[in-house]
Amino acid sequence: MSSASTAVTPSSLIRPEIQALHAYHVPPSTGFIKLDAMENPYLLPQTLRDELARLVADAAINRYPDAGAYDLKAHIRSVTKLPSGMDVLLGNGSDEIIQVLAMAVAKPGAVLLSVEPSFVMYKMIAAFTGMRYVGVPLTQDFSLDLQATLDAIKRERPALVFLAYPNNPTGNLFDAEAVKRIIEASPGLVVVDEAYYAFARDSFIPHLAHYDNLLVMRTFSKLGMAGLRLGFLAGSKAWLEQLEKLRLPYNVGVLPQLVASKLLQHHDVLLAQAASIKQERTRLMSVLSDIRGVKAYPSEANFILFRVAKATQIFEGLKQRGVLIKNLNGGHPALADCLRVTVGTPDEDAKFIAALQDSINQLA
Ligand SMILES: *Cc1c(COP(=O)(O)O)cnc(C)c1O
Repeated sequence: MSSASTAVTPSSLIRPEIQALHAYHVPPSTGFIKLDAMENPYLLPQTLRDELARLVADAAINRYPDAGAYDLKAHIRSVTKLPSGMDVLLGNGSDEIIQVLAMAVAKPGAVLLSVEPSFVMYKMIAAFTGMRYVGVPLTQDFSLDLQATLDAIKRERPALVFLAYPNNPTGNLFDAEAVKRIIEASPGLVVVDEAYYAFARDSFIPHLAHYDNLLVMRTFSKLGMAGLRLGFLAGSKAWLEQLEKLRLPYNVGVLPQLVASKLLQHHDVLLAQAASIKQERTRLMSVLSDIRGVKAYPSEANFILFRVAKATQIFEGLKQRGVLIKNLNGGHPALADCLRVTVGTPDEDAKFIAALQDSINQLA
């Protein structure tokens, strides 16, 4: 029996800004050649998989994980070549770290600033945490519009700035000097999101000690551990000590800690896979660019953004032919007729190219 005179409903109780959101959409992918989510397409060598099996078999999953993740952090520190004095905070994916950062600074009226188009979770998490979101448009070729960004920083005084380096979904690496100007001009924290570091030629990790307001975030998702859910934030102890208070106590489980520690001891294996992916990216880029009617954008990540007429129909054509990529048409206006494809194995990419060519021909 309902006790109150008016029954509680989602629309009466849930915050209006949450009701206005669309949940992050993950389409079913069973049976598809999956090139939609920037995953590493390669399996691990059999010997390493056998080692992981033994580790998992012996894991104490009846116990809570090491809350400080001592071992895992030591491996991260070593593969990342973290400057001295810097520490790391671990997240259940780097998405969780974006949320921790936003929760920490979300005073009433506080602003989260990023550029557009970029990673959609920045804007979504601003809404989750009641922050005001400001998105500064990139230029036509997806470079930073430095003057517009500096003007917005002066006007809005953001508590938090996110720059994806390289950017998703555009794939380009912003000009490092422009990023430095933004860090210097920012009254709040600047987080350089290096989700694609393994595929790019530059990083801000070496600059951490030069800027008091700089933090660098990375994830292992794009390097072959998407299923583990593990990201980290690197920065000075003074910042991380505060942010640690918002991290839920056991956010990285026993199995992710064990498996990631083992894989980071074999970081060379993962980096060799990343090197193959970069080589294949170059090849895919040139094949894509040769297709009439396709404009492909240069990438320093493990995906390529491209523009093609009737993008949504092409996307559907690919799906009918068993290839799943990401349709960005209908989202941000700067991405009209844009599709994004993850670099797969040479075989997967050949199937993608054949399906793309067929779909284009069919619509011609
Ligand atoms: C994929 C991605 C992330 C999130 O990765 P997690 O899987 O949550 O670690 C963060 N930032 C950018 C720019 C990404 O593309």
